[in-house]
Amino acid sequence: MTDRKVRVRFAPSPTGPLHIGGVRTALYNYLFAKKHGGDFILRIEDTDQTRFVPGAEEYIIESLKWLGITPNEGIGFGDGPYAPYRQSNRKPMYRDYVKQLIDSGHAYYAFDTPEDLEAMRERLKASNVDAKYDAITRTTMRNSLTLSEDEVTRLLERNADYVVRFKLPRKEEVKFHDEIRGWVTVNTSQMDDKVLFKSDGMPTYHLANIVDDYLMRITHVIRGEEWLPSAPLHVLLYRSLGWEEVMPKFAHLPLLLKPEGNGKLSKRDGDRLGFPVFPLQWQDPTTKEISSGYREVGYMPEAVINLLAFLGWNPGTPQEIFSKEELVAAFTIDRVSKHGAKFDQNKAKWFNQQYVRKTDDKTLAAELKKEVLANGLSFSDAYIEKATSLVKEKIGFTKELWTMGVYFFINPTQYDEAVITKRWNEKSAIVLNDLIQNLTSLNDFSSSNIEEQYNAALTKNDVAGKDFLQLLRVCLTGVAGGPPLFEMAELFGKENTILRLQNALNTIKK
Ligand code: GLU
Repeated sequence: MTDRKVRVRFAPSPTGPLHIGGVRTALYNYLFAKKHGGDFILRIEDTDQTRFVPGAEEYIIESLKWLGITPNEGIGFGDGPYAPYRQSNRKPMYRDYVKQLIDSGHAYYAFDTPEDLEAMRERLKASNVDAKYDAITRTTMRNSLTLSEDEVTRLLERNADYVVRFKLPRKEEVKFHDEIRGWVTVNTSQMDDKVLFKSDGMPTYHLANIVDDYLMRITHVIRGEEWLPSAPLHVLLYRSLGWEEVMPKFAHLPLLLKPEGNGKLSKRDGDRLGFPVFPLQWQDPTTKEISSGYREVGYMPEAVINLLAFLGWNPGTPQEIFSKEELVAAFTIDRVSKHGAKFDQNKAKWFNQQYVRKTDDKTLAAELKKEVLANGLSFSDAYIEKATSLVKEKIGFTKELWTMGVYFFINPTQYDEAVITKRWNEKSAIVLNDLIQNLTSLNDFSSSNIEEQYNAALTKNDVAGKDFLQLLRVCLTGVAGGPPLFEMAELFGKENTILRLQNALNTIKK
């Protein structure tokens, strides 16, 4: 086992858009594979055709591509030696293993109709017993353990509907080691005889998952905590099939929790609090409802990787900003937390902001230039780049270069009401007029010279600078906060700065 090449898989079911919890599972698998020089596989688990949602598989692939969580093998990324990687295309592979389980007495045919099952449930409910198909109830049902061999053969020949159920050992302790939780013990009396296969030839999740992990030589199963209750059955399946020697190690990742901490993070939390829970925007094919995505909101893929890595893992040092390569080097399963990780929207934004700041001005300026052009405006590259460098520190998302820096390109026509009400007084117009006078005669329109002229206008009128500065900012930009004011004025240039001041005077004075 130890000398096997590390092979891990991400095995989503195409039942809708991939939740960021699922993306985190993919990421941890990816990091683990890369760290150990192993392979990361994408397998599509679509045995439950009733839950199939068109577009979901494409969505999964596009999400992984956008984030650079690239599988070595799998649907959408080129086949490897264990193709196909979509379970519905592997359908013929499972039958032999079902037969093996039946022949060795680990599984049995069950012919119960939905009505039979319902009657059993009613009966058990009436006697206050847990209604499940198990070691006791199976003796009262229509299956190959209770019917005669002839009857079973006859039913099979007549193509009667059946399922194959796993024959759970009665009252047995199943013990296995989880890499995150330590030893886990479950008694089979708490479990039921799960369906493994149906007469339409389709395996259920449990069987297909185990058979594929075996055939694909998976060494570690890293998946969400919601699969922990299935793990004892999986362990028993490995044993029953004689594969215990190569059974993968299990690691069940902690849940992603609501920001308040109680319960699993859901799409509704995202809608309620205004953040995406999906990597990409998704439109429901039936309801046409649109759910927002990290990509469309403006997150950078590197930031999403970084913030997801920290939801359930930490390096044990104060460092928070990690490139994907650094994460590969630092990631270990033993630093994954057992406890649910609370989603923190502000922290998510903070991560993105750090990545915006790390991006060089030229790259950001190119994005801003697209907006400038799209708005039919024309500014020099040097102007756009300088504006970028000034706004950069103030923004969390690249697209805010335009939304928050729009006044670099369009002179304001509206002025923050709250600031005007609070700061405008009988001296304001006089000071502004003096400032206009001073600036008109200024030859070298540098930020320090502008500031000097500003101070001169204040001194002349005996006005305190601290109070007036915000008013001046609103006159020049329309808004109350932003980059260093005199540097902005230098960039606006003499003519435009004076024009802005005059516009403000004309609009506000009344
Ligand atoms: N198909 C399962 C899912 O949708 C995979 C669980 C597993 O990784 O075993 O999450």
